[in-house]
Amino acid sequence: MERRSFIRLVGLNGLAVAATACAARGSRPAPASAPSTPIRLSSNENAHGPGERALAAVREALGSANRYAFGAAGELRHAVADANGVPADHVLPGCGSSQVLEAIVAASTGPDRALVTAVPTFELATGQARALGAPVIEVPVDSSLRLDLEGMAARAAGAGLIYVCNPNNPTGTLHDAAAIARFVDEVGRRAPDATVLVDEAYHEYVERPGHESAVAIARDNPRVIVVRTFSKIYGMAGLRVGYAIARPETLRPLSAYLDGLSLSVLSVNAALAALSDTERAAEQRALNSAARAFTADALRSAGCRVIESDANFVMVDVGRDVRFFAAACRRRGVEIARPFPPLLTHARITIGTMSDMQAAVPVFLDALKEPAPTTRLPAPPPYVPRSEGAWAC
Ligand code: PLP
Repeated sequence: MERRSFIRLVGLNGLAVAATACAARGSRPAPASAPSTPIRLSSNENAHGPGERALAAVREALGSANRYAFGAAGELRHAVADANGVPADHVLPGCGSSQVLEAIVAASTGPDRALVTAVPTFELATGQARALGAPVIEVPVDSSLRLDLEGMAARAAGAGLIYVCNPNNPTGTLHDAAAIARFVDEVGRRAPDATVLVDEAYHEYVERPGHESAVAIARDNPRVIVVRTFSKIYGMAGLRVGYAIARPETLRPLSAYLDGLSLSVLSVNAALAALSDTERAAEQRALNSAARAFTADALRSAGCRVIESDANFVMVDVGRDVRFFAAACRRRGVEIARPFPPLLTHARITIGTMSDMQAAVPVFLDALKEPAPTTRLPAPPPYVPRSEGAWAC
């Protein structure tokens, strides 16, 4: 049921009941005034932070901070390769997956090699391709807010790069490995020279039994690159480590843009420790799903359409321009994401710790009680990479 008709049915009292039900499940009441440090649910970070082992590795690496870390990138390549069942020459690390994505866009697009991407999706490739003068073909997500893979393949002829975010940021939707494999085949038929970039920034959060990464496809097909990051489940967004997995001949042109020596020895040591701590990753996955289910249930009970998510965020239709909703949350001490056109009535909410979400949910329910303004706001500005405040998360 749409939110508006739900509210008409239950009235604002109904929403209050939902808020009370939520309180009965252990959440704190909405703060009377905004706390000085807002609860940050805006950038898909991991509020739990790095694990103890990663932090210990950083502390230990401080002792060798006076030395250039010549061997660090090599060590990381081997560790990532082992963890993913590929040879070490199939891995290329970078300072965050953003740097890796930028390198791939620079190597694969240009004025006569378009980027095909979804809308809405993670916009870094879009912004970077535009900055390089490449045409950008944006294929809208479907009515379930899933990537329209067929539509994207249909537009691939003449493209240099096709960007597939899986799970998709900001909608949280997931395609299985078979769907990605069919898509890669279809793109191969229509655009044999195009590269398919599968961004798996949130892959480690996926809990579906049997779900597989596109790494196996990238191992065999030189037209496919998988990108991952340590910023999400490993809680290391500030340490800036990401990597690409692809065949060596596919990675070679990227090495012109990615210099392994730029990686900090502290970050590499933390990444090595995090990767070996598989128990912690499993624990983080479980904590995320519990907090996500708590949040999604409360918002559904309040009549919102909540898109099923396989990541550390949820997308929710709040039935009004999301900028009004975001401002109402901000006044109450909770930061949510910027708008993602064209889904202007949808809020993307990052999942924090359970106590973050227990404090944030009453704020959401309270913000939903504000009458939806009828004022039309101007369209949000397009994303411009590296402009001030233009963090694309
Ligand atoms: N890819 C996706 C889908 C993201 O959502 C993000 C950040 O939120 C990134 C890549 C960039 O992450 P980082 O540069 O921290 O690795």
